[in-house]
Parts: sequence; structure tokens; C-alpha cells
Amino acid sequence: MALPPEVCIRGAGIVGRTLALLLARERVRVALVVPPATPGKEDIRDIRAYALNTASRTLLESLRAWPDAAHATAVREMLVHGDEGGRVQFSAARQKVDALAWIVDVPALEQQLADAVRFQPQIEVVSAPVAAPLTVVCEGKASTTREALGVSYEVTRYPQHAIAARMEAEQSHDGIARQWFNDRGEVLALLPLGGTHGKTVALVWSVDQLRAPELLAQSDEAFDTAITEASHHALGALKLTSERGAWPLARAIADRWTGAMPGQPNRSWALAGDAAHTVHPLAGQGLNLGLADAAALAEVIKNRDYWRSVGDPRLLRRYERARRADVLQMSLATDGLQQLFSHNLGPLPALRNWGMRGFDRTRLVKHWITAQAMGLKA
Ligand SMILES: Cc1cc2nc3c(=O)[nH]c(=O)nc-3n(C[C@H](O)[C@H](O)[C@H](O)COP(=O)(O)OP(=O)(O)OC[C@H]3O[C@@H](n4cnc5c(N)ncnc54)[C@H](O)[C@@H]3O)c2cc1C
Repeated sequence: MALPPEVCIRGAGIVGRTLALLLARERVRVALVVPPATPGKEDIRDIRAYALNTASRTLLESLRAWPDAAHATAVREMLVHGDEGGRVQFSAARQKVDALAWIVDVPALEQQLADAVRFQPQIEVVSAPVAAPLTVVCEGKASTTREALGVSYEVTRYPQHAIAARMEAEQSHDGIARQWFNDRGEVLALLPLGGTHGKTVALVWSVDQLRAPELLAQSDEAFDTAITEASHHALGALKLTSERGAWPLARAIADRWTGAMPGQPNRSWALAGDAAHTVHPLAGQGLNLGLADAAALAEVIKNRDYWRSVGDPRLLRRYERARRADVLQMSLATDGLQQLFSHNLGPLPALRNWGMRGFDRTRLVKHWITAQAMGLKA
């Protein structure tokens, strides 16, 4: 890149790379910081699969970074089970859409983005941060730059870890994403992969943090039995086909998302993705929120007056205003759901299951909630 970069993006996860591509498309010169790989960690493959909504799909498709059909399976239906027979069913057909979400293989998506970045001349991949009018921090929840900027990140830890793995089922999942809540606030999700008639599922099991080490240490056979039973044999017997990984769970939000670079006149910073917020994965929304951040920031930069710098504080405040409310709403919704199933006082278990059955019959509210989760402002 002959001219100096206008934006330096720290962190080349899915949010950082997406933002780099969106800005480059608008002819903004970007430096993307990818620190050298830690020896021994180069080949660690993420075993997770993400539920991505329509807004995320549209955004990634516009960047030619959407994985092929083998790595992105449409969710035709979602079945959510309570602990005492409550059940809510969401259907793409009833919503009059092709899919409620897509379950996307994480390494495939990361590869698509890495390839797209390689062919974009406006993006220079650098190994250390460079000075630029705007620095965007996309370093994930443990961001050190955010800390160095003195931004407070209010973290509420859940006493849970999410165990993720890939499994093969005896029966086809038929494009249905299934979730079971139990009375300890634990959530088991089996997400369809490998096409509508596939038998591969991505497991996300949010369990008590004290139980997690025991489940990770179990033999494969014992783990298979535990999941088959926890899923009430809905897909027949399940068998592990990958390693198991675990993630501690928390809800967090930064108190400031944008600001001036300390001691550097006319230079600003902004946070995006998990560096700005994290939510419980039970609703599969964390990355969808991060991609919406990238889209909103790219949009304010694209629409700026020609004489304004990309780091103009006014633009950045517009970005923060546009995103904070959305993130808070989703964070409270997922937290509320988690809390609802974590308490068993008096009539609460019966009430929440009764509530689920009642909710299942309310077409309009269901339609609205589904549209929100899909990233469609219905
Ligand atoms: C079990 C589980 C399941 C989930 N399922 C879903 C789902 O179904 N749908 C969904 O939308 N979301 C889901 N999420 C949330 C999703 O994982 C995150 O929201 C998403 O990964 C955030 O992306 P990011 O790019 O902001 O951060 P990250 O993915 O954390 O990427 C940050 C990047 O920055 C790099 N980095 C860190 N520090 C520095 C530094 N100092 N300098 C340079 N680079 C640095 C890191 O190496 C990394 O590459 C799930 C999360 C968990 C834990």
C-alpha cells in the first residue's frame, strides 16, 4: 500500500476481517493486524459451528465470504424444550422464509474470509499495530488494547461452561435445531450440519462449571450416552466425531465503545464484536451482533461528508448509538432466559413451562421475536 492506512484493525477474527473487507470495498485503506502465530497453536481447529441469521448471511454473501452449502446448513425449524414438558416450535415455513438461520462451520467461514482478504489490495496485513486516524479494536473478549485504553468491561460471569463438539446421529436431523433447558439453567443444543438430510450435529452444551471438567474427562462412550439421554433420544444414539472443547460463559459490555487515542491528536479508537460485548451463547447471537457492529461502522464511514476523517468523533458516536441499544436488548433477553431456568422456587418450573406452551400459541409475538433473532427489523 503506497499511502498510509486510514484504519488500523487490531484482531483478525471474523468481525475484524469482515470489517476490513467492508471498508476496503469503500476504498478505505486498511491495515489488519495479525500477530505471528504462537508456536504449537497454528493447527488448532475451532470445533464450533455458529448459528448465523439472515442479516449476517446477506452481509457475508455481499463480500463473497459465505461458505458453500456443505458448510452452511439451513435451519428449517427450531424446537425448544422446557424442563417440564413446555415446548416452543419456530418454523421457517410459517415465517414465510427459506431458513430461520444457518449453521455455519467456523473454520470454513474463517477460510473464506482469509481468502477474500488476501485478494483485496486495499488491505495490508501487518504483524503489529500501525498509527492511523482510526483504530478499531476487534480483539475479542480478552482484548488487551481495550484494557490499555482504560475502558471498563463489566463482566457478569455465569456459573457455567459451554462444551462444544461435533457428533454423528443415528437419524437425520431434518434441518431442525433442537434445544433442551433443564431446571439447573443448563442448555443443550444440537444444531444441524451437512445439509437438510445430514446426520452431523454441532453440540453446544452449557453446563454447571463444576460439572464441565467431569464431562470433558469422560470416555467417549460415556459422553455419547450422556448426550443421547439429555437429548431424550430425539435423534437416536449420538456419537462423538471430534475433540471436546469448553468455554467459560459471561455477559459483558464495555462502558465506552469509542474515544480519542490518548496523547495522539486527531486519532480515535472504536470497539467492535466481542471486544465491545459478549452474550450467553444460548440464543446463538454473539457473532451476529459483532457482524452488525462491523456493518454499522462501515456504513457511517461510507456515508461521511467527504471532508470528514474516518476517525471523526461525531461519526463514531453515531456508530455507538446505533449499536448499543441493540446489544443491550439482546443481552438482557438471553440473560432473562438463562435466569428463568436457573431458579426453582415455588411454582416457577410449572409457570415457565406453562408460559412456553402459551407463547407457542401466540403467532404474532412469535413472528416478531423470530424476525428480531433473524436480524430483520420486523
Ligand atoms: C460455545 C460458543 C458458541 C457460540 N455460538 C454462537 C452462535 O451460534 N452464533 C453466534 O452468532 N455467536 C456464537 N458465539 C459467539 C461468537 O463466538 C463470538 O461472538 C465471536 O467469535 C466474536 O468474534 P470476534 O471477531 O469479535 O472475536 P474473536 O473471535 O475472539 O476474535 C478475536 C481475534 O483477535 C485476535 N487478537 C486478540 N488479541 C489481539 C491483539 N492484542 N492483537 C491482535 N490480535 C489479537 C485473536 O487472536 C482473534 O483472532 C458462541 C460463543 C461460544 C463461546
